[in-house]
Amino acid sequence: MSTTKHTRPLVVITGRPNVGKSTLFNLIVEKEKKAIVHETAGVTRDKRYAPAQVGDTQFTLIDTAGLEREDDDMKQRMNALTESAWDEADIILLMVDGKAGLLPVDVSLARELQKTGKPLRVIVNKTDVNVADDTMNEAYQLGLGDPIGLSAAHNNGVYQLEELIHELWDGEEEGVEKQDTHLRMAIIGRPNAGKSTLVNALLEDERMLTGPTAGLTRESVGSIWEVDGQVIELVDTAGVRRKSRVTEELEQMSVTQALRAVEKADVTVLVLDGTTFDPERPTDGPFERQDAILAGRVIEMGKPLVVVLNKWDAAEEKELCLKETRLQLEESLGQLKDIPMIQVSALRGKNVERLLPIVKKQHEIWKTEMTTAVLNRFLEDVVEHRPPPSDKGRYVKLKFMSQVSTCPPTFAIWCNRPDAVQGSYQRYLLNQLREAFELPGIPIRLLFKGGGDNPYANRKTTKHDD
Ligand code: GDP
Repeated sequence: MSTTKHTRPLVVITGRPNVGKSTLFNLIVEKEKKAIVHETAGVTRDKRYAPAQVGDTQFTLIDTAGLEREDDDMKQRMNALTESAWDEADIILLMVDGKAGLLPVDVSLARELQKTGKPLRVIVNKTDVNVADDTMNEAYQLGLGDPIGLSAAHNNGVYQLEELIHELWDGEEEGVEKQDTHLRMAIIGRPNAGKSTLVNALLEDERMLTGPTAGLTRESVGSIWEVDGQVIELVDTAGVRRKSRVTEELEQMSVTQALRAVEKADVTVLVLDGTTFDPERPTDGPFERQDAILAGRVIEMGKPLVVVLNKWDAAEEKELCLKETRLQLEESLGQLKDIPMIQVSALRGKNVERLLPIVKKQHEIWKTEMTTAVLNRFLEDVVEHRPPPSDKGRYVKLKFMSQVSTCPPTFAIWCNRPDAVQGSYQRYLLNQLREAFELPGIPIRLLFKGGGDNPYANRKTTKHDD
């Protein structure tokens, strides 16, 4: 990865010979400035650079087209130069031939390029031909993100490069910042639920990584633990540790504060007071309205939630309390079944050691990445078991599935009529996903795509009624 950041990304369009790299190159290179592109004559060829522009986005293209001759003498030279282009580039675009389909050489090239760790995307060229649909599909299977389909020769779909380059270039910037692998944890809950006591109990544990050392107070060190090689950091320690009086106003404030902590965190721990259960009024607590609001927001933000039922040493009617709390959790958080919940006594340090491993596990599940091949096998199975109901007599056809992002796991299903997938069927798919891939208590997003977002629809001729 480049260490210095320049304003124009250096982009290389790579791929096997004859896929259409030069055609695209010539199309997006700024014609009037093309003069600065030079090619050294003779056997020794250098890389060529050219200023390029798509829409308002300017970048510099490295051209490797002239380096690709089939003759053996050139081959080695070409490989070395091509690889040095990869090394140099900020963004790599792998072009494949939509007409020829994905060839084994494309696949091995993709794997090679993946090793560079650079922002990488597949371009399917020649989407003006019918079979390009299949190539798009195959290109997805490479697992390199959404491929874009275009026709360089017909100047069709080339505009997509603008957004793509932005995305890959900005993404790289974020990537540099996100180097550390800390898991950030927020602890939220109503005043007096026992958050501070819980933090102190956790800090007393020997897993604590950074203790108070000379000149540093505990507060400034922060609260950091290590669980099986995973560093867990508590965000907004001060917020949790500061004592607050229970007044209406303060309670309101703590919600805002809690949400700010959730925003910064990966996993959120919601602390409930187990002693507030009253068998006479079972619906009133420990999971009260304010907790439901907080928990709902956490899930909306796509973050995993772990519930701690605290003060278990002093709780009464434990069995009923547990059952009721579970029920209310499920009722208010709808879809999200199996949110992990543990009973602890923060005061006595009982069961507290179970918390961080659960937090770690939920975090790992949250980061799950699934291959496109596995997801499509899944899609085939669930659709076969229960096909989507037709909409006013018209078939709803789910064609293809891919994971589009992690944290939270986000999946997209391309279909002929994305708006016609019924809510109950969406819930069925979500439940099946959760079960098949073991994603308990984790927010999942499922998108239905069609139209312009549909990889099959990058061409005007796409049929939507199949
Ligand atoms: P916070 O406002 O959520 O940070 O709550 P605190 O940690 O200040 O705890 C509020 C009160 O509950 C204090 O008096 C604690 O001693 C008490 N408390 C906290 N955890 C437990 C527990 O596990 N059992 C019992 N019996 N009391 C607890």
